[in-house]
Amino acid sequence: MLDYVGLEADLTEEERLIRDTAREFVEREVEPDIGDHFEAGTFPTDLVAEMGELGFYAPNLEGYGSPNVSERAYGILMQELEAGDSGIRSMASVQGALVMYPIHAFGSEAQKEAWLPALGRGEAVGCFGLTEPGHGSNPSGMETEARRDGDEFVLNGSKTWITNSPIADVAVVWARLVDDGGDADGGSEDAPVRGFLVETDRDGVTTAEIHDKLSMRASVTGEIGLSDVRVPESNLLPGVEGMKGPLSCLTQARYGIAWGAVGAARDCFETAREYQLDRDQFGGPVARFQIQQEKLAEMATQVTTAQLLAYRLAALKEEGRLRPQQVSMAKRNNVRTARDQARVAREMLGGNGITTDYSPMRHMANMETVYTYEGTHDIHSLILGEDLTGIAAFE
Ligand SMILES: Cc1cc2nc3c(=O)[nH]c(=O)nc-3n(C[C@H](O)[C@H](O)[C@H](O)COP(=O)(O)OP(=O)(O)OC[C@H]3O[C@@H](n4cnc5c(N)ncnc54)[C@H](O)[C@@H]3O)c2cc1C
Repeated sequence: MLDYVGLEADLTEEERLIRDTAREFVEREVEPDIGDHFEAGTFPTDLVAEMGELGFYAPNLEGYGSPNVSERAYGILMQELEAGDSGIRSMASVQGALVMYPIHAFGSEAQKEAWLPALGRGEAVGCFGLTEPGHGSNPSGMETEARRDGDEFVLNGSKTWITNSPIADVAVVWARLVDDGGDADGGSEDAPVRGFLVETDRDGVTTAEIHDKLSMRASVTGEIGLSDVRVPESNLLPGVEGMKGPLSCLTQARYGIAWGAVGAARDCFETAREYQLDRDQFGGPVARFQIQQEKLAEMATQVTTAQLLAYRLAALKEEGRLRPQQVSMAKRNNVRTARDQARVAREMLGGNGITTDYSPMRHMANMETVYTYEGTHDIHSLILGEDLTGIAAFE
């Protein structure tokens, strides 16, 4: 596997073990069938529990069954899973960074005990409901509301583009907590954003699947409809209020994506190199042509640059010095790299490159989602622009 500047030489024994476990899992369980799943538009749900057994869900958390591995080990895990497919990495990212992380960081003791071990083992599946039909890049415009009624909350609203909602047992739903005492704040848009744990079998919850995706096909995506859904007060995440709740989850998930994209790009490189060495045209392997070598040289350079950024992010995260803007830079750069290089790899496979027999076009299609979710490429440009100039250009 491409590791051009020898980054893996510094891995600890634990990090190597995690890398090898994930690589072996991808080779054994993902690669043989993922093309069929992509064509069928299905997620291999039989892998959910095995991924839990192997410790793929939030192993970087501490306690409640999570081993608290290094941030680099977590990143390498995401890299290896996404070398298989972005849908597999998304399963681990959503479950770990978007569901277990907020429960771990903001949940009550009872919520942690009730959910973290089961989610970690893959016995329960979670999803993260932030995006709404009218509010994607600007989630702070959210309209989903929660109103207190005695010792319960009543939720109304709709979320869309939610990874895993149709197969989830619990949704982390972000909603505005509207004060029934009146509109003293001038309307619900000023009401504080709060996180709720919503079991999907509650009355009034619907989770219709979104079909017809041309990207991220081996992943389940759906809506969350909330119609007078009652949850007890104990389902409110007590430890956070405001947009910093969902945004801090996104920083965790974007960190994993910055790593994961390297895996997809690396797999494209490896597939293209191998193919070009095997494929004969004009009396020898196509890898002997300078035009092809230039593409491989560029691809290897881009993958290595993305790897370096991911490794540096891990070091900063481990030291507690990682800023969300730095994560934005890495997510933006590494996903663009994977998107661009998947296309080059696809062309290097000729006609065979457009089939599901080879990974690059599947990665290329997946990258359209990864480029868009967890903050679009444009939004990360604006985050960096604001950081670099002090001027916000969002509105
Ligand atoms: C397969 C898939 C899975 C997903 N999973 C989840 C999930 O689990 N949970 C969840 O909550 N969400 C999820 N999402 C939603 C995702 O995060 C949103 O699609 C994303 O935030 C973009 O929102 P939008 O689609 O509404 O696009 P819009 O916000 O409508 O953007 C449309 C275009 O306008 C651009 N744009 C928007 N605002 C600006 C601006 N200020 N300046 C310049 N350009 C701008 C965008 O970059 C984009 O190109 C998922 C999406 C997909 C496709």
